[in-house]
Amino acid sequence: MSTTTLRPAPGGVGCVPRIVGEKLRRAGLRPTRQRLALGWLLFGKGDRHLTAEQLYEEARAARVNMSLATVYNTLRQFTESGLLREVALFGSKVWYDTTTGPHYHYYVEDRDEVFDIPEAMLPQLTVPGVPEGMVVAGVDVIVRLKKAP
Ligand SMILES: [Zn+2]
Repeated sequence: MSTTTLRPAPGGVGCVPRIVGEKLRRAGLRPTRQRLALGWLLFGKGDRHLTAEQLYEEARAARVNMSLATVYNTLRQFTESGLLREVALFGSKVWYDTTTGPHYHYYVEDRDEVFDIPEAMLPQLTVPGVPEGMVVAGVDVIVRLKKAP
């Protein structure tokens, strides 16, 4: 098992690097130093939605030295391994969500912020007329919000 010198993120509750390493291994990813560092930032603060740029800024603030390209690559690997879910917004960046199960989102346009819509507030959607030989892979609902006039 590799050792790390990660510091907890400022103000974060944090899960220990060992737990992040275990999470990576269970997803079939080797716990490299960079994956552990980003995993620590991503999964150590509860449910989160953030962009690659935001994670890159957090990494810099935590003195984790890596390029934006590495952050993008790692986020892609985490997503392909099922550790993250992508939330794509029209005309905006891709957001990464640490909650991977089906759920829906609010997007606050003037604050550029994504958060979950509580499940109880949405009706169950049924999708009629799915073509023969196909199944619904997922349903994305994004409710855009802006400040009331
Ligand atoms: Zn979410």
